[in-house]
Amino acid sequence: MGKTGTLYLVATPIGNLEDITLRALRILREADIIAAEDTRQTLKLLNHYEIKNRLVSYYEHNRIEKGNYLVGQLLEGKNVALVSDAGTPGISDPGEDLVVRAVSKGIPVTMIPGPAAVIAGVVLSGLPSGRFVFEGFLPMNKRARRERLESISRETRTMVFYEAPHKLIYTLKDLRCALGNRKTAIARELTKKFEEVWRTTLDEAVDRYENEAPKGEFVIIIEGADERELQEAEMKSWESISLEEHVRMYMDSGFDKKEAMKKAAEDRGISKREVYKGLIENK
Ligand code: SAM
Repeated sequence: MGKTGTLYLVATPIGNLEDITLRALRILREADIIAAEDTRQTLKLLNHYEIKNRLVSYYEHNRIEKGNYLVGQLLEGKNVALVSDAGTPGISDPGEDLVVRAVSKGIPVTMIPGPAAVIAGVVLSGLPSGRFVFEGFLPMNKRARRERLESISRETRTMVFYEAPHKLIYTLKDLRCALGNRKTAIARELTKKFEEVWRTTLDEAVDRYENEAPKGEFVIIIEGADERELQEAEMKSWESISLEEHVRMYMDSGFDKKEAMKKAAEDRGISKREVYKGLIENK
């Protein structure tokens, strides 16, 4: 069997055509096939740099069939350059799927790094960027969306979301409802002529986009929950139940009595002996 080809994940601009590396241009020239999420968009880029190469469309709705084809070509020794409609392939696009398949077949995968809206958004937000979580698009399914919002409500790291303009206001309202009013940055049209990074709050963002039709592409960056406030809220919730109920709550969630007493003692900042005494006294 001949040598297997390589899958190159090639990052392309998220707006400004100058944001492309020399290596990316070389790989786009030299690859046997360019698999593109949006062939029209990619053609603009290729024409700009006078690159002529074979384009194959690979997007969400043909990813199974075209994925099989591309894996076949890679196994036959062809080098494939994968590009998404903008930015880094594999970030909120079907590139993720092709990488999983290629890896499972032992095909070499490498990347040519470059722009990604998540990175541009978080570093421009003015919010802590030392630790952050990328949440991408919130699910559209009602239940999955509710669960996702619930799961991030106690997240203390900065959070980054993608959203399309026509859904922006619904997402801002849902985030406002789940997280309360928080510091927020709305990054729009990054690297483009009308780039805007609005450092604001969720309340103000909801207010604005209730009265204005959003235009362009958006990244929403939101500050994480305050760790101390979370702890205080947790303490308050213990204050409203009796010691007995507190221990019972842990036992109901699977801890044995000794462990449950230890956990309640930790929550309340008292010793295990005090918990033991308290339970006896209340008998
Ligand atoms: N793979 C891309 C990346 O690396 O960022 C993301 C693809 S995802 C399908 C498209 C989303 O990325 C948009 O809906 C928007 O949330 C965000 N996005 C892409 N380009 C952007 C830009 N120039 N300014 C702000 N957001 C952008």
